[in-house]
Amino acid sequence: MRAQPTASHYIDGEYVEDEAGATLQVVYPATGEVIATLHAATPALIERAVAAAKRAQGEWGALRPIERARILRRAHDLVRERNDEIARIESLDTGRAVSETMYVDAVSVAEALEFYSGVIASYNGQSISLGSSFAYTQREPLGVCVGIGAWNYPFQGAGWKSAPALAAGNAMVFKPSENSPLSALLLAEIYRDAGLPNGLFNVLQGFGNVGHALVAHPDTAKVSLTGSVPTGKKVLGLAGSMMKHGTMELGGKSPIIVFDDASIDNAASGVLMANFYSTGQICTNGTRVFLQRAIHDQMVEKITERTRNIKIGDPFDPSVTMGPLVSQAQQSKVRSYIDIGKEEGAVLHYGGGIPNMQGMEGGFWIEPTIFTQVTDNMRLAREEIFGPVMSILAFDTEEEVIARANDTEFGLAGGVFTQDIARGHRVAKRLEAGMVWINNYNLAPVEVPFGGVKSSGVGRECATAALDHYTQIKSVYVEADQVVSVF
Ligand code: NAD
Repeated sequence: MRAQPTASHYIDGEYVEDEAGATLQVVYPATGEVIATLHAATPALIERAVAAAKRAQGEWGALRPIERARILRRAHDLVRERNDEIARIESLDTGRAVSETMYVDAVSVAEALEFYSGVIASYNGQSISLGSSFAYTQREPLGVCVGIGAWNYPFQGAGWKSAPALAAGNAMVFKPSENSPLSALLLAEIYRDAGLPNGLFNVLQGFGNVGHALVAHPDTAKVSLTGSVPTGKKVLGLAGSMMKHGTMELGGKSPIIVFDDASIDNAASGVLMANFYSTGQICTNGTRVFLQRAIHDQMVEKITERTRNIKIGDPFDPSVTMGPLVSQAQQSKVRSYIDIGKEEGAVLHYGGGIPNMQGMEGGFWIEPTIFTQVTDNMRLAREEIFGPVMSILAFDTEEEVIARANDTEFGLAGGVFTQDIARGHRVAKRLEAGMVWINNYNLAPVEVPFGGVKSSGVGRECATAALDHYTQIKSVYVEADQVVSVF
């Protein structure tokens, strides 16, 4: 199976190769097979991409927003047309099952393009009355923005960053994760075919050092990173030292709280989706599952029964619901946390091993795994694993579970299952998280701001909130009277 793109990079409207850059092997996670060989961007290509973006941005930023919207709207149509091709590349690159990638990845980017092409013409500043005088504000683009992606949802990452950035009049240089570099190139083709002028969306491949060089470049104004907390601290630190803007979408260890009045079936569905979708590789996952004591055993039984029905296998089999992990490194990390959980005294209730995958032995497989009797201070309950490892914790009271749920450096997301509407809102208000779901989990429609608090991030993606983070305000004071001078 090959998925070799035309070239590694996309700069100023064309595919570009420079074999002097470090080799980057693209591996199909289900088999371990190399499906493409790319090269990391050299310093000369980084210069070329930033210069192209800078040159193109001025004219683009000066267009009427409705003219920019027209191009994004065409890109939306093309993303939907190329849905199946995007899904195939996404499954090859990440190992995520086509039962997900056919319905989620291109769709969420199409919706982002649809949303921003719809709202940008009415995203305006304010007029501020000051008696006889007044002031107005304008939302100006920042200039050249850097997008840096994580590996779990690479097409979505590229789309969620570029759609609002471009709508607001910026240019973007996007660096995908070295683990899943292919689909951002498809997005570059789509923007080209939609009529986006050359230089406004560029893709550079590479490891962390390429991301670093882009953030450090004097001609870039902002970075939007999706990645882990340690990377986020480095990237925001560098951006801050140069007084650049930063949006950080980072990791989590989110709580999902099930009260004893919840619908057991519905809560079990939420808990499974919150832990095992995308083989557990979702930043917002509710990996600390707090079950109220009266329903603890019943819920564990239901969750286990439903987990048994998960079909692990060939990501291209439409009936498969769980593919492999993205890489060998991620598989080793997840296995080491399973060992840590056992050593810490948690009960390995389900899974924990490597399934026997005939014909796909070279893949990075792991069983969906459930630990029970987990306590708050275990590493299992404190650290982000980013794999299908669920920790179940018991609780007694609302007050207690809120304190325990908030006892973490992270603050990305949280969920609460209850039939008591007042309690749902009360708990949502008190959870220290950027996003809370009541009686559902992990839904991320583009109309709703997406992002974390505490160590989980700064800034927001999606909704008009993302536009706020891709623009800066200019205030203009208009005097309608005489200058009052003390001189
Ligand atoms: P990572 O932090 O290892 O890498 C993220 C990206 O940053 C990659 O493209 C990488 O090449 C780049 N990078 C690494 N060091 C850099 C540096 N010094 N300067 C600039 N760029 C650098 O993360 P990952 O392993 O690719 O993804 C998994 C993590 O991402 C998890 O922690 C997960 O929770 C998080 N994530 C967050 C969200 C969100 O929206 N909040 C979404 C998906 C994933």
